[in-house]
Amino acid sequence: MKLAVFMIFSTLGLAWVSSSLAQAPPPLLQPVSVSGLKVTTDTGGFSHLQPWADRAREMVVLWYPVVAAYLDTPDARLPREIKIEFKDMPGVAHTAAGVITIAKAWVEAHPEDLGMVLHEMTHAVQAYPPSKDGWLVEGIADYIRFWMAEPAGQPKSIGIKDHYRKGYRVAGAFLAWIEQRHAPLIIREASAALRRGTYDDKLFLEKTGKDLDTLWAEFVEERRTTK
Ligand SMILES: [Zn+2]
Repeated sequence: MKLAVFMIFSTLGLAWVSSSLAQAPPPLLQPVSVSGLKVTTDTGGFSHLQPWADRAREMVVLWYPVVAAYLDTPDARLPREIKIEFKDMPGVAHTAAGVITIAKAWVEAHPEDLGMVLHEMTHAVQAYPPSKDGWLVEGIADYIRFWMAEPAGQPKSIGIKDHYRKGYRVAGAFLAWIEQRHAPLIIREASAALRRGTYDDKLFLEKTGKDLDTLWAEFVEERRTTK
């Protein structure tokens, strides 16, 4: 008798489980960095930019957890809200806290330039205190953009006027080379030091045995001879 009752209930239980599986699969597990993340857009009345803004929003949702994990940003430092707004202003874009402000005219002239959103979003993830080492902050943002997403934008050669201290993709190329050749964790380590507010150029000497200018001379020499 007891066995029969148990069998009836376990059969019912099985039926309940399989029907609930069919109707409502469990919610998607998300990385901690995006749980509760809100990404909003504001075209500032330029409604023709809305499709572009929607694509930019998709980019942020896709890349935010990837970049947060790569730069090892503690969850408590990550903005929970990212706003993508458009303004009638000169230049390209800038980011402060969780607000990415993009120039309307730039998007109109360069609608293909979604990678710029990844660069700006990286600034939101970096969440560093104010830093005098802008070359490194911008170099890391372009490293994320061109080494993780848009390899076609990596510099083909290093010109005589190029210098890592100018930041952006040349600094990104230099960091990628140091990472590959001398110190596999250097970008995360430099990022962590910037976040703590303790970054010093000596970090490169400590991690590679060579100072930045020696590394740069080697990098430039190699780029010249291997072309
Ligand atoms: Zn930047």
